[in-house]
Amino acid sequence: MPPSRHSPVAFCASLLSVMAMLAACSLPLPTRAGELLPRHIPVAEYLRELRQQLDQKAEPQRRHRRNADSLRLPDNASGLLPQQPAQPRTNLQHTPATGSWPDASSSIFERYWWQILLGGSLIILQGLLISALIFALRSRRATLDALHDERNQLEARVLQRTQELMQANAKLELLATTDPLTGIGNRRRMTEQINRELDRGRRFGHPLSLLMADIDHFKNVNDQYGHEAGDRVIIAVARTLAGGVRNIDMASRFGGEEFVLLMPETSIAVASSAAERLRQEIANLEVRGDKGESIRFTISIGVAMTAPENTLETPSTLVSRADKALYQAKESGRNRVVCSG
Ligand code: GH3
Ligand code: MG
Ligand code: MG
Repeated sequence: MPPSRHSPVAFCASLLSVMAMLAACSLPLPTRAGELLPRHIPVAEYLRELRQQLDQKAEPQRRHRRNADSLRLPDNASGLLPQQPAQPRTNLQHTPATGSWPDASSSIFERYWWQILLGGSLIILQGLLISALIFALRSRRATLDALHDERNQLEARVLQRTQELMQANAKLELLATTDPLTGIGNRRRMTEQINRELDRGRRFGHPLSLLMADIDHFKNVNDQYGHEAGDRVIIAVARTLAGGVRNIDMASRFGGEEFVLLMPETSIAVASSAAERLRQEIANLEVRGDKGESIRFTISIGVAMTAPENTLETPSTLVSRADKALYQAKESGRNRVVCSG
């Protein structure tokens, strides 16, 4: 339960207990209590009051006797008259006049007023202290709540910033591994992928094939149709290569007008036929020049494969063998596929 509901209750309870105690102390005490806790009064004063009361009680009898005396009744009739009132038996003759007599009407409050006031004050002080403590606890609770809220906000902000940072990092990673002209992976991404696939091929006993493709006489395309038309040719080749392979294959622009295709779990025979198919598709492509003219072009492809038991193979050695096969394709007339021996 929150302390805000306790504070007034505790304070009121303290006040009520103090008021009840003060009221009880101000009540007159019963006789016995008065004897136990007497207020002493002078005996002489008490005897004077007592004598006055006795005189008042005896006054009617005296008046009656005076009347009887005035009637001059015979002596034998005196026996019919009421006797002298008996002297009250006070048993006070041995009480010294300087002594005191208990006053049964005194109260606890009159007797112990300063103790009661001190006790009441202490209880009130206690109530005030409890209220102050509860107020301090409430303030502390409010401060803790505020700190908790602030911490939650900070955590949410840190989480948001972390997510933004992760997204920015992912974007940077993508930018760093993507070729901006064609949108396919670049040399860096391909090198990482070759490393992964080499490990995977060794682990599961699968061959890994790599194709290196290069546009034939591309310098002539640039020279004849312009640099932008040359860019369109590069984009067309990239799309054809990336779209002409399986999902587990990967195409990348390795540099300039060179492309590398990675074919996991693929023998050199299958990779060679895939290369031949791609070569034909590109030979059938047609790209428009700036003036609408038709641009036709071909590619040469070198194919290399690594066996799973070849533990010395690295991305560099595999690419190098494919590059040598490509060089042979170029040397032997271009627009063809050559497999690495
Ligand atoms: P080969 O058949 O022997 O491969 O001859 P090639 O002309 O294709 O080879 P070379 O290396 O002589 O020329 C490649 C040209 O590709 C040179 C360069 O200007 C051009 N090139 C490289 N990158 C780009 C590019 O991003 N866009 C354009 N338009 N041209 C590029
Ligand atoms: Mg070329
Ligand atoms: Mg080249």
